[in-house]
Amino acid sequence: MDNAAKAAPPGTRKEPAEILYTRSLEVSFDGFKAIRGVDFTLGAGELRFLIGPNGAGKTTLLDVICGKVKPSAGEVVFAGRHDLARYQEHQIARLGIGRKFQAPSVFANLTVLDNLLLSAKQARGLFAALLAGKKPSNAERPLATLELIGLAHQANRPAGALSHGEKQWLEIGMLLVQEPELLLLDEPAAGMTDKETEKTGELLHKISSRQSVIVVEHDMEFVRQFAKTVTVMHEGAILKQGTMADVQNDARVAEVYLGRQVVKHA
Ligand code: ADP
Ligand code: MG
Repeated sequence: MDNAAKAAPPGTRKEPAEILYTRSLEVSFDGFKAIRGVDFTLGAGELRFLIGPNGAGKTTLLDVICGKVKPSAGEVVFAGRHDLARYQEHQIARLGIGRKFQAPSVFANLTVLDNLLLSAKQARGLFAALLAGKKPSNAERPLATLELIGLAHQANRPAGALSHGEKQWLEIGMLLVQEPELLLLDEPAAGMTDKETEKTGELLHKISSRQSVIVVEHDMEFVRQFAKTVTVMHEGAILKQGTMADVQNDARVAEVYLGRQVVKHA
């Protein structure tokens, strides 16, 4: 395992420009292809928005990347050398891929800060930390993360007392203290107020200066405001990829997705 990493002396191994790619990826549920032939590439440090109508396969794509679902064909490769189909979910987390599901799950009875401290302890493990040349986790990162997610003033409140939006940020924080290289977020702004949604967009931009992020998002206004590159999925395949303007000007996208809004006004 990990021949590429062993072959080259430290410091000379070239980091791949892409942090993740899939080739001819397929996911089949009892014969139904939820993903059919997806070639998806994410650059290191990129913030990518994944959109598409319900049932397009967005959540399934995240499920494959984090190991919750196994591909039926094709490959999914992380950091140029990890064939993710061969790893279990907890191993993939340890490789540095953090996944946030749609519903927030925090420890309601623990304080905000304790939630972060606990998560930091469960981080990738001492061995991985040493390999990466990092110190084992202390309180520094949880405290910095507390600031980043805008909850410093709530540090000692029980997490259960937070608003829905604040819980979502806390859960993102709980992933961040584990220092993932790639963060997968499924509809992080769902159910948020406009103000919370805006803060979430700003948080995503801050996060993406340090790690690669894939965000599945339903709220088109949110995508319009915060996305640089957008990948549109439809019926298990990639329909279009580009800037929001590219996507909005694409006739096929308009037909399957954005068009619904246009039609409404017609
Ligand atoms: P999206 O997140 O884009 O709305 P999903 O990835 O959740 O779409 O679902 C894609 C398709 O796969 C849908 O038709 C859905 O019903 C189906 N699907 C998802 N998960 C399963 C599963 N565990 N078993 C069977 N079908 C599934
Ligand atoms: Mg989904």
